[in-house]
Amino acid sequence: MKKKIAILGSTGSIGKTTVEIIKNDKKSFDVILLTTNNNFREISKQIKYLKPKNLVINNKKIYFKLKRKYKKINIFNNFDLFFKKFDRKIDYSISAISGLSGLQPTLDIIKYTKNVAIANKESIICAWNLIEKELKKNKTKFIPVDSEHFSIWYLLKNKKIQSVEEIIITASGGPFLNWKLNNIKKAKPEFAIKHPNWSMGKKISIDSATMMNKVFELIEAQRIFNLDRSKFTILIHPQSLVHAIVKFENGLTKLLIHDTNMKIPIFNSIYHNTNKKLKSKKLGFDHLNSLVFKKIDLKKFPSMNILKYLPSKISLFETIIVSCNDELVDLFLRKKINFWSIHLILKKLLNMKEFTKYKQITPNNTRQIYELCEYVRLKTRALSIISAK
Ligand code: NDP
Ligand code: MG
Repeated sequence: MKKKIAILGSTGSIGKTTVEIIKNDKKSFDVILLTTNNNFREISKQIKYLKPKNLVINNKKIYFKLKRKYKKINIFNNFDLFFKKFDRKIDYSISAISGLSGLQPTLDIIKYTKNVAIANKESIICAWNLIEKELKKNKTKFIPVDSEHFSIWYLLKNKKIQSVEEIIITASGGPFLNWKLNNIKKAKPEFAIKHPNWSMGKKISIDSATMMNKVFELIEAQRIFNLDRSKFTILIHPQSLVHAIVKFENGLTKLLIHDTNMKIPIFNSIYHNTNKKLKSKKLGFDHLNSLVFKKIDLKKFPSMNILKYLPSKISLFETIIVSCNDELVDLFLRKKINFWSIHLILKKLLNMKEFTKYKQITPNNTRQIYELCEYVRLKTRALSIISAK
């Protein structure tokens, strides 16, 4: 029987990689849902070769354009309308919308899917407690797709979480690993966006350049695996071949290696528990001989200090970090602030007295998260104007 599948954010970097995998095995899948925002050309191509049953298109103009062109597909402008009409179970869904816009759709799709692979790290960081509740309620299985978290999840298969002594998450170091501090401070978006190893969306590429991505990944790992921060170490590993290392209490250490291609974790989340083969590069002797690990230079990557601000349990403070950083990355990409201001303004905002109380507040619902996000975005814009003067 064909596997029913949904791809949220099908036109993005993760979404397109997922589509590529499905395209190569079309006879095994029935595409129930694709969702996107602006990218008319890409979604039109995907409609042609995947023949999806339903589309959710966030951008109104694109929605009307598609609705006029494709009369036989159910096309919706928002998730609520789609879910009102939908009452079946999907076999596999991937949540790959960028930013907090992906949170509500992720929570919604969990109700309708047997397996959910989550790439959208913002929803895990800000609302893991809400996600976990939905997973349990709907008996939905979860697979993390961020490569480090997929690796840890894979290494922990059939292991008790209590047997873990230490987990090392690796970081490539991004495009500025070997740049001088003074040059990093003045770096332009076109350089910040060029990741040496991975091809990713713009936002996450900038987070890799500032290393905020690792701050986010550590929080993500803490939540998913329910482990104390003291169990985690982040190490620079410029080759990005080893994605995670797990040391167990019995003295054994396992590590997971794969090419720098998101196709591998996504493929393995789709074909989990099957013997499906994926062609991948040979792991050459040269590669193994060049594995390097080193500590992070906090002078070059001061964003890592943000970890000190974090409460150990999930709180609304994470929404503040995510929203402020998101706004700052957007301002940087639009050349409104410089690269170094990203961490300076973030630090300034996190030190504001009015935000401290959120460290004690557990998120209860998405409305609370979205309202706080909007407020923080406004505050961030105001701070960025002051700091530009
Ligand atoms: P992209 O920016 O490449 O793609 C984002 C996708 O989300 C696009 O399909 C976009 O549509 C859609 N989208 C954006 N806003 C909305 C909205 N308001 N409503 C509906 N759809 C929307 O992002 P990535 O693929 O790089 O990342 C996706 C998520 O996965 C992020 O949370 C990221 O942190 C995480 N991740 C990404 C990795 C990577 O290698 N790229 C690795 C690990 C995690 P459109 O194209 O039409 O604008
Ligand atoms: Mg990652």
